[in-house]
Amino acid sequence: MTSTADPAVASLRTQLSGAVLTDGEPGYDVARSVWNGEIDRRPAVVVRPAGPADVAAALAYAREAGLDVSVRGGGHNYGGAAVVDGGLCLDLSSLAAISVDPDGRTARCGGGTTWAQLDAATQEYALAVPGGTISHTGVGGLTLGGGFGWLTGKHGLSCDSLLSAELVTADGEVLRVSAEEHPDLFWALRGGGGNFGVVTEFEFRLHPVGPIVHLGLFFYGLDDGVAALRHARELLRTLPGELGVLVAGLNAPPAPFVPEPYHFRPGYAVLIAGFDGEDHHAEAVEAARSGPAPLFDFVSPIPYVELQRMLDGAAPWGILAYEKAAYPDGFTDEVIEVIADFLPRKTSPLSIMPIFAMRGAFTDVADDATAFGGPRRESILINIDSLAAEPGPYATDRAWVREFWEALVPHSSNSAGYVNFMAEYEADRVRTSYGPAKYERLARIKAAYDPRNVFHHNANITPAP
Ligand SMILES: Cc1cc2nc3c(=O)[nH]c(=O)nc-3n(C[C@H](O)[C@H](O)[C@H](O)COP(=O)(O)OP(=O)(O)OC[C@H]3O[C@@H](n4cnc5c(N)ncnc54)[C@H](O)[C@@H]3O)c2cc1C
Repeated sequence: MTSTADPAVASLRTQLSGAVLTDGEPGYDVARSVWNGEIDRRPAVVVRPAGPADVAAALAYAREAGLDVSVRGGGHNYGGAAVVDGGLCLDLSSLAAISVDPDGRTARCGGGTTWAQLDAATQEYALAVPGGTISHTGVGGLTLGGGFGWLTGKHGLSCDSLLSAELVTADGEVLRVSAEEHPDLFWALRGGGGNFGVVTEFEFRLHPVGPIVHLGLFFYGLDDGVAALRHARELLRTLPGELGVLVAGLNAPPAPFVPEPYHFRPGYAVLIAGFDGEDHHAEAVEAARSGPAPLFDFVSPIPYVELQRMLDGAAPWGILAYEKAAYPDGFTDEVIEVIADFLPRKTSPLSIMPIFAMRGAFTDVADDATAFGGPRRESILINIDSLAAEPGPYATDRAWVREFWEALVPHSSNSAGYVNFMAEYEADRVRTSYGPAKYERLARIKAAYDPRNVFHHNANITPAP
């Protein structure tokens, strides 16, 4: 435990405008908590910086004190990369200021902003940055790893809308990073994760979205799994790319739009979000209804901010969580058989298997334009999650995740999946996720900006020799 009377900590306090928290102080336990309830780590010091100068001072302190550094954006990383035992945690929740320029269609937000905060601010002007599917996720970690959600088909990844970033390097230098300034670093920030420094501010391009958008949800029973998944495959092949389509194996929630007999019923959901008016969405709904009969469906206009938080209840803060993901080589009959075989075997009602569809505007960006690891072609990413409140079902479903993933490996040339969907970071999987060419380019940039690998609590890129 680092004592509050520790003279080094006292000296750090005098250098910072932001807060410094140590074990036993009010706020310390909240500051060290992360989304995954399995993670219980005790940093020696938590710093809540007021700006880039505080970040630089905290990094200098950590270097002198020999402390490991971790960076906390929204605290959503499955493996708890945001906190490290005995280290210095830079908790960026103090950096959440947002400014929106509706005429220039740009927004700036602090490095610790959540998507709920950013969406609320940009939707004041019916504008949005493509974000994730759970609103309490951090803009920081999600964008730096790539970032996909409902708007990926219409406007690409979150990182595709990044215009610039303010970044503090491991040596405390404050850089403005954009296509014109430090373009190598700008490339690396768009997919390369938190390897290169602490982003204190993001600047994004905004897109017109909502405020009312359209949602269709079609829910099929487990017995119809193969037929429902084949139908979902056909929809992904034929529906316009700008629609947001999410396929998920899950238990129906006890939500008002779910008829009571189906509350907690396991099955498959096909969700279709439309951003181009009711008629455009209605065509997709008609196509969805042309397949096997769902147990129930729900079609409605919905405020964009509601769509963004609609799934929050499926991933509550503090839940025990483990995940693995893979890009199968196609949505083939073999992959569908693996899914239909494994999904019914999950134990916890919260455990879930979302299938993210990478299509539309996502495929308009050249593969080497950003460091994002996945293939820039039409593809699906299968994510398998053990989520439970109790250790028993959690452990059972963690084994289920591993077995399910093992069964997908023979069908997936990139079985490492997405760096933001790794509960455990094995160096070989990080390398596989990027592929050798991107990984080596990232490693050279890492060597230029963080040769001592100060930022290693992440999907780590080893600095090139
Ligand atoms: C329930 C749930 C749903 C999710 N849904 C999606 C989804 O729909 N789409 C998607 O793409 N991903 C999704 N993810 C994955 C998500 O992108 C990653 O977990 C991401 O790391 C979360 O970012 P964070 O800032 O909240 O996490 P944190 O745990 O705070 O940070 C993770 C890492 O990101 C880095 N980092 C964060 N902020 C900064 C910063 N400002 N500067 C430098 N480094 C930083 C650090 O290396 C840190 O260790 C989901 C995760 C969860 C748990």
